[in-house]
Amino acid sequence: MKADLDFLRPYFLGPASENADVLEALLLEFLRDHAYWRRNFHPEDGQRIDPGARHSPEFHEFEARTRQELFALSAELKRAVPFFHPRYVGHMSSDLLLPGLVAKLITTLYNPNNVSEEAAPVTLDMELRVGRQLARMFGFAVDDAAEPCAWGHLTSGGTVANYEALWNLRAVKFYPIALQAGARACSFDPNPVGPAAKALSEYSKWELLNLSIDQTIELRREVAGAAGKLDDRRAIHRLRNAVREARLENVGIAMFFQEHEIKPPLVMVPVSAHYSWEKGMKVLGLGTAHLCRVPVDGAMRMEIGGLRGCLDAAFRDEVPVLGVVGMLGTTEFGAIDPIHEIVQERDLRRAQGQDFGVHVDAAWGGYLTSVFRAADGSFLSRDEVREGFRYFPSDPVYEAFHAIAQTDSVTVDPHKLGYVPYAAGAFVARNREIVDFVTQQAAYVFDLGDEEAELPRAEKLHSLGQYILEGSKSGAAAAAVHVTHRVLPLDVTGLGRLLRVTIRTTERFHDAARRTSERLAGQVHLTMPFEPDTNLVCLTINPVGNDSLAAMNRFGRRLFSCMRVDPNQPLQVKEFIGSYTSLQYGGLTEQHATRILGELGVAAADFVEIPEDPARESDHIFVLRHTLMNPWFMTGPDDRTYIGLYWEYLERTITKVLNERELWADPNGDSE
Ligand SMILES: *Cc1c(COP(=O)(O)O)cnc(C)c1O
Repeated sequence: MKADLDFLRPYFLGPASENADVLEALLLEFLRDHAYWRRNFHPEDGQRIDPGARHSPEFHEFEARTRQELFALSAELKRAVPFFHPRYVGHMSSDLLLPGLVAKLITTLYNPNNVSEEAAPVTLDMELRVGRQLARMFGFAVDDAAEPCAWGHLTSGGTVANYEALWNLRAVKFYPIALQAGARACSFDPNPVGPAAKALSEYSKWELLNLSIDQTIELRREVAGAAGKLDDRRAIHRLRNAVREARLENVGIAMFFQEHEIKPPLVMVPVSAHYSWEKGMKVLGLGTAHLCRVPVDGAMRMEIGGLRGCLDAAFRDEVPVLGVVGMLGTTEFGAIDPIHEIVQERDLRRAQGQDFGVHVDAAWGGYLTSVFRAADGSFLSRDEVREGFRYFPSDPVYEAFHAIAQTDSVTVDPHKLGYVPYAAGAFVARNREIVDFVTQQAAYVFDLGDEEAELPRAEKLHSLGQYILEGSKSGAAAAAVHVTHRVLPLDVTGLGRLLRVTIRTTERFHDAARRTSERLAGQVHLTMPFEPDTNLVCLTINPVGNDSLAAMNRFGRRLFSCMRVDPNQPLQVKEFIGSYTSLQYGGLTEQHATRILGELGVAAADFVEIPEDPARESDHIFVLRHTLMNPWFMTGPDDRTYIGLYWEYLERTITKVLNERELWADPNGDSE
């Protein structure tokens, strides 16, 4: 069982720093390389810090202070969370792949700023290449001649990538309205333009609000083309300014919607969506009231009937729908939303003149797409992917990954399943022309004669800061992702091979859970509220004989207190470190709540929105949550595996907490 994991041995520093000498040699080599590089920049200038300076008292004092503070830092850092160890099964963090770690550390010496090519001649290009690699993994076209051609770039994380998705979707959605208003102000009415091949003025507001991204790009191009034919530079200039002035980004949301009598647009996400979507609605001023939360099914995946209901209501009332967001791996449960069904629904609606963008929040699961890609870039068949797994991938999971190629944009986090250091998220868009709707520069196609506008697409993107939410940003992060992708390509022979190990780990963990559940049947009901879609596992545990949800939650929290990071305790005393989540009332349907609670022997009537008890012990179901991304979890000391050690530990802890009845059975007990 261990032998087939041998390939992983050079990948990481290792749980016991087994590869410390490799890391040390690499760092020393490239540190020296950096020093030589400095010396070779105008060597004729000589030195500014003379060798004798280090004997001065000031030099010594500064050095001593630095050393002292670094020692203090290093001592403090010993309280950090041991993400690198297989005994850490909590949040979405693990050991770092050595190629990316070294790339990040050594690139920091050069300190490139990926805001623009001028500040990062090397790493900005790497960032755009990384964007293309991610896009290719998702199945988007990345050939420069392709139309549309995808692009992607790095962000500080999934949160900012999600904001960017909203920002892009909003910019495109309302552009046609501004285009029509601007043209009208200039008494310019190109004809025929757009998908209906008629005069721009003849499009109704509702039609303009229901163009697809590609149609909007095409419409803008046609209108610009018609303007160009006027051969009147001043008229073109006036038109460009009129359109810009009419845009939502210029007049602001309030005025734009009032002036055009447009209802506030909606964004649809599953109830299980990451909280960054709520933050994004606030940041963009769209309002959280306009974030529709679509119910989920018993597997915690977006329920497509629920989505249809939300869409029906919106389109009936002529409310624009900015986008539907599917989660490719929810943060709490690892569930994979049916991206294929969302895409199908969009296609059906599109045929009826109802349009919306589709974004995939794959911050967690995006890199798992590499498990589905062959080295030649083709998408593997279901049987090919399934080889070597017991359960993965279920049919809906396979279909969901396959359908990403038909969506508009994707969020993915290299600092999660890419095993690279923080901060590295990414935003990938299927059609790079979308950047013209968010640019800060006068780079619309109307800017005939504008140098920037006439640059070939790919080169234009080198003024990256013009097209993204962030400004100055780390080139070292780009280098880290770039080197990681070079060493481990985004297919099943590269990164996918490592990620397959995490899924196999999860399958074994899952089977061990079943066995433990059977063995402990007389003492506790131990269940998985839903089958894992990927490599995140949730467990619910209730003592036999207890039918109170509040007591079960106290029991769970008591269990968890043994495996949580506690700033007041040395981490070394923890045998395992996990994480938890809860199923909130309203976060799942009554039917599924009843099933989950029934399996646990808890009265479904206990689960309420507003509990009597002030501690709100029964408005949620407490869940132990484990992220199984550490590659060594299937191995272990002696002949054991960490999977076995974990279950033995959990069993011991359950027995211990069962004996502490007073702490959980009684509502006045300790509810930590
Ligand atoms: C982690 C996560 C995010 C947020 O990403 P950060 O990198 O923490 O900003 C968004 N969506 C999902 C589904 C996530 O798992």
